[in-house]
Amino acid sequence: MNIQNTIQVIQQYTEDLEDRLVAIRRDLHQHPELSGAESWTAAYIAAALDAADVTIRTGVGGYGLVAELVTDPTRPTVALRVDMDALPIQEVNEQPYRSKVTGLMHACGHDVHSAIGIGVALILSRIRDRLAGNVRFIFQPEEEEITGALRMIRAGVLSDPEPVAIFGLHVAPIPVGQIAWTEDLFLAGFDHYLGILRVQGGTMLSLAHLDAIARRCCQVIQHFNQWHLPETFEEMQAFWKRMETSPDGLERFMIYDATQNDEVPGAWHGQFGIGIKAANHHLRRAAIGRIRASLNTICRMTHTRYRLEPMGTMPDMRNDTKLVRANIEALERIVGAESLIELKAAFPFNCEDFAYFTEYVPGAMYWLGGANPAKGKFAMLHTPDFDVDERCLKVGVRAMAALLVNTLARHDH
Ligand SMILES: [Zn+2]
Repeated sequence: MNIQNTIQVIQQYTEDLEDRLVAIRRDLHQHPELSGAESWTAAYIAAALDAADVTIRTGVGGYGLVAELVTDPTRPTVALRVDMDALPIQEVNEQPYRSKVTGLMHACGHDVHSAIGIGVALILSRIRDRLAGNVRFIFQPEEEEITGALRMIRAGVLSDPEPVAIFGLHVAPIPVGQIAWTEDLFLAGFDHYLGILRVQGGTMLSLAHLDAIARRCCQVIQHFNQWHLPETFEEMQAFWKRMETSPDGLERFMIYDATQNDEVPGAWHGQFGIGIKAANHHLRRAAIGRIRASLNTICRMTHTRYRLEPMGTMPDMRNDTKLVRANIEALERIVGAESLIELKAAFPFNCEDFAYFTEYVPGAMYWLGGANPAKGKFAMLHTPDFDVDERCLKVGVRAMAALLVNTLARHDH
C-alpha cells in the first residue's frame, strides 16, 4: 500500500473529524480526575471508542484501558500510549469548557492526549484495510504519580504480542502546528528520597530546632541548582530555542529539589523530601553524593544524624534513534519540514513514566505544539491558566496515525 497515499487519506479523514475531536477534548477537560481515580474518564473513552473497530479491555492496571485494532494476528503490532489523569490545580480560565470540578484541572494536557488517542483509533479503523498489521491503543492512568505505566506493563500491556514499537506524545509550550523531536534523550530521570534527621544520643534538641535544621538542609540542597525554571512564556520560548540550537551543558543538567514534609504540620519533625532530576543515573548518583557531603557537614555541626530513604526512581526517557529516524519523512509530510523541529537536548524540568515502556520496547515520544500567544493560550504545563489552541488535536492525530501506519509498513518488508 502506498504510504504517501495513505497519509493523504489520513489528512482528509482527520479534517472530517475535527469538530468531534474538539468536543471530546472539552468533555474530558470539564471532568478532570486525579491519578488513580480516572473512572469517569475510562468510561467516557470506552464509550467514545464504540464507533471504532477495536476490542476494548478495561481495568488494566487501575483504570487503564486497552483497545486493540487487529487486522491480522500473524502480522506485527504497534502501540500508541496516551495518558488520562489530571492535577490538583484550580483552573482560572473562563472558557465555557473549563473544569467543572473545584480544585481539579487538566493542566498537563492529558485531556488532549486522550482525545488524540480516540481520534487515531477512529481514523485507523476507517483505513484498516491499508494497515500492514495491528494497533494497540493504551490509555494510561496515574501518569502524574508515575505509577500508571508500570501497573499497566505488569498487567501485560506489552505482551501477547509484544509491540514492535510504541509511540507517545505530550503537548508543549511551542507554537501550534509544530512537532519537536529528539533522537535520544527526551526527558530526565528522577530519584526521590526521604531525608530523616535524628538527634544524636545525649543531646537535648527541641523539635522546633530539628525542623530548623531540616530547613537548613533543604536550603543548602536547593542552592546546588544552576537552573532557573522558566516561569513566563517568553522565558520558556528562550529555553526551547536553546534546546534547538545547542545542548551547551543541557546533557549534564541536574535539578535539585528539597522540601520539608509539611502536609501535616508538626507530624513530620526533621523530615524532608529530596528529588533529583538528571539525564542518567551516573549524574543522579553524583548528585546524591554531593548532597550527602553537605548533610554530613550540617549534621556534624548540629549534633544530629541523618538517614536517606530511597522513595522511588524513574529511568530517563530515551527515544529509539532508529525508530525516530525512520519516521522523519512521514512526519514531514504531516506538518511540513519547517514545523518539524529537531531538539539537540532534552527538556530538563519534567519526567514521564513513558520511560518505563521504552525500557521494554523501542519507543519514541514527541512534543506537540499547543501554544498560540495571540489567543492567550500558552500551553505552560501545570499552570492554572493552562490551555491549548485546539488545532493541535488535528496535528496530533495526523502525526500519531502516520507514525503507526509508517512503522507497520516498514516492518512489512
Ligand atoms: Zn503530562
